[in-house]
Amino acid sequence: MPDPEFKGCIVIGAGPAGMTAALYLNRFHRDVTVLDAGNSRARWIPRTHNCPGFPGGLSGDELLERLRTQAVDYGTKVTQATASRLERVDGGFRVTDTRGEQYYGRTVLLATGIEDVLPPHPWMEEAIDCRALRLCAICDGFEASDDDLAVYGPLRSAFEHARFMRTYSATVTLVQSDDEPVDAQLRQSAEGWGIALMTKPLELLFDGRRCGFIDASGERRDFDTIYPVLGSRSQATLAIALGASVDKENQLVVAANQMTSIDGLYAIGDVVSALNQISVAEGHAAVAATTIHNVLPRNLREATSPMPQRAPIPRRITDDD
Ligand SMILES: Cc1cc2nc3c(=O)[nH]c(=O)nc-3n(C[C@H](O)[C@H](O)[C@H](O)COP(=O)(O)OP(=O)(O)OC[C@H]3O[C@@H](n4cnc5c(N)ncnc54)[C@H](O)[C@@H]3O)c2cc1C
Repeated sequence: MPDPEFKGCIVIGAGPAGMTAALYLNRFHRDVTVLDAGNSRARWIPRTHNCPGFPGGLSGDELLERLRTQAVDYGTKVTQATASRLERVDGGFRVTDTRGEQYYGRTVLLATGIEDVLPPHPWMEEAIDCRALRLCAICDGFEASDDDLAVYGPLRSAFEHARFMRTYSATVTLVQSDDEPVDAQLRQSAEGWGIALMTKPLELLFDGRRCGFIDASGERRDFDTIYPVLGSRSQATLAIALGASVDKENQLVVAANQMTSIDGLYAIGDVVSALNQISVAEGHAAVAATTIHNVLPRNLREATSPMPQRAPIPRRITDDD
């Protein structure tokens, strides 16, 4: 069997983190393979208003489209594939996808994100789309300011979130998703913070516009906005199988240059133990891609080296802009 051809880097995941990294690596004239299962968290975003550089905001789908267009302009190709195995081999790493295709890289960059745990209802996407449900207070708490808010989750973690939400609204209810008894100390603390408490409801409902709960006594209580805080599933299993260090939520622990505890294996974005935000994912990507470029052997340019096809001609910004 002929020796495999190693790319400079295999990027796994084409959300904001992976696509930003691919853009940087291609602009460093590196050979990169991007694999993507096509399920970025960003595609759930109806409209983000905290993504720097986009006054008026933009939808998650539009952001992904823009990131992809920009990276493709510099030669990035995204292969629709789910990586199912990551192994160390002589010279770097081998990635195998679910169809059995194999890819070889001197380095690997994991940008596989996380998956939100959501209540098991078929209307979740619709409720998020109309902002009856929101998943990320840092992202869009501002837009929910002064709403009648509920935070729905296990007592202890929901209490943390409810306190955070009090900076956005005077009307916050903690709705328990578990049966943990509320002790006197927590009850008093909730009172002090102005947080109402609701024990585990019988049901979560959506009427096409708003969500509400049927409480334990059978009464219906609707809210302007509900934040479910039921946790998330890490998508770091490929790295964990190689022995990479993770935190207690199975998110990858990385050094300042984004390298995991496995030499040559980098991680960026939500899959890393850090703040889950687009701007953070993009920042991680810039750091990791530049580190990878610097650790790979120098790709000295020949007089005859080709430019990537379709590279745009840089446009000068003038005083008229
Ligand atoms: C409803 C909602 C609203 C949000 N609003 C905002 C906001 O306003 N502002 C903000 O900053 N952030 C917001 N976020 C968070 C933001 O979406 C994430 O921080 C961001 O998408 C993280 O980017 P990422 O590239 O790390 O992961 P993702 O965008 O999740 O991309 C990961 C990619 O990796 C792929 N993948 C996973 N495993 C594999 C595998 N084994 N093989 C191949 N591919 C794989 C996935 O299919 C996916 O395409 C919001 C999130 C949600 C859910």
